Amino acid sequence: MYIDINNRLHDDQTRALTCPHCAVYTHVTPVAAPSFADLAATRPKQTGLVYRCDACNSPIFMRAQVRGHAADRIELSAQLEEIERPPESFDYADLPPEIEPLLSETLQCYSNSLFNAFATMCRRTLQAVFANLGEAGKLRVFDELNNVRDMAELDLETFAPIKRVLFGTDSDPPPHFPPIDDFQAALLLEVVKDLMYECYVRRARLRQAIVVRRAGSRTGGGPDATGSAPTEHKSHDALANGSA
Ligand SMILES: [Zn+2]
Repeated sequence: MYIDINNRLHDDQTRALTCPHCAVYTHVTPVAAPSFADLAATRPKQTGLVYRCDACNSPIFMRAQVRGHAADRIELSAQLEEIERPPESFDYADLPPEIEPLLSETLQCYSNSLFNAFATMCRRTLQAVFANLGEAGKLRVFDELNNVRDMAELDLETFAPIKRVLFGTDSDPPPHFPPIDDFQAALLLEVVKDLMYECYVRRARLRQAIVVRRAGSRTGGGPDATGSAPTEHKSHDALANGSA
């Protein structure tokens, strides 16, 4: 993509993303770019562009690398960096009170593209989970992490930094954290949310469902009570016979 001498942005890619304002996955349209003269005079390494969300019309700010200068155009990288991301959500109701604020800050780091802070907070959140679940729980989380790797078919090169972030300790030889790029951060985000869901949310919902079923069976009511089902079958048979 490039900016021509008349300040027009030429972007032949159709761009779509999750809007940070309305959270809809939608196309975006370029609305503002820096002027050719400004870029030619100052020669910055990167510059900013503004797109418009086609769903809610809000402005979406992007960063682009400046690739090169010619007499009639300034080349920009086709890959744009999103400055704002939609806030990451999680249903915190089933989390222990000491873990909820840690996970909340972890997700905020991700939403603000602070990937190294995000990785550090991922480890801190997992340390709180291990303290909460005990040694047996830690082993279960480890198994669950391997399940995620198998299900997502991640190769060792992609998976190793994620495992190191989550299970590493400060007593490991430096550097304590591998560098995290935006793709690894996105993977780490999905893994951490999945682990939290498996460790707390799924368990709590299953327990709640069993309590409701047990209460239903004690009162003798409920949708599975005998009496109504045979009548329904009869009426279905009658309908079938009637139409035949
Ligand atoms: Zn929007």
